[in-house]
Amino acid sequence: MQKIIAANWKMYKTRSEAAQTARDLAESGVPANRRVVIFPPFTAIAEVADVFAGSTTVAVGGQDVYPASEGAFTGEISTAMLREAGASWVLTGHSERRHVLGEQDDFVAAKTSFALAQSLNVMLCIGETLREREAGQLQAVLRRQITTAFVRLPSDRLEKYFAIAYEPVWAIGTGKVAESAEVLEAHAVTRKTLCDIVGKIGCKIPVLYGGSVKLDNAAALIALDNVDGLLVGGASLAAQSFAQIVNA
Ligand code: PEP
Repeated sequence: MQKIIAANWKMYKTRSEAAQTARDLAESGVPANRRVVIFPPFTAIAEVADVFAGSTTVAVGGQDVYPASEGAFTGEISTAMLREAGASWVLTGHSERRHVLGEQDDFVAAKTSFALAQSLNVMLCIGETLREREAGQLQAVLRRQITTAFVRLPSDRLEKYFAIAYEPVWAIGTGKVAESAEVLEAHAVTRKTLCDIVGKIGCKIPVLYGGSVKLDNAAALIALDNVDGLLVGGASLAAQSFAQIVNA
């Protein structure tokens, strides 16, 4: 099975910087057992998509989307705008949107179902805070985040166009990677919840791990049960380190 290695460039890189990183990445190639998705800032999506035009292994996505076709939503971006710029994926529910910008489960759910219905592939991010983990709420938090998002999901698009990224909030950008046992537990909870809610198709939805992935832990993480890929933030900003992770 092809594993997905995704790059979240967050609010880093101007258009020219993003294009240069994309060109450098394009030179490294992608092994047959990997698919790559790059999430640049909105302003750089078109440049990065141009570099990978026609590629069957590298796709480009938006880091967020608004759940309406168009309208008076200052600062937001629509599915049509993303698609025309060259994005085929979108991230929803990233922990920085949930915890820095205050997005709640319902809003994340609305974005997720809208984007899927509008023919974008969606990577839904879920994950617990340190406080929730220490309070023994891991399972409840993941189940709640997944269940809320699934209330309105178009089930015909789930099989091919949907992925989940489990990202413990305490591991994102902190250098603190989750232990193998912690990743196994969280991915098992996620997998069981998906199978319970959606049945057969849910059992096949790719579940990625994210949180301080680096070259020295990537191979071990991706080899774990129920880990179908990686979502990489900091270590995806330099083409060389991201290319090494893709090939790990
Ligand atoms: C992320 O932004 O989704 C992420 C996992 O970041 P980092 O790899 O820097 O922890």
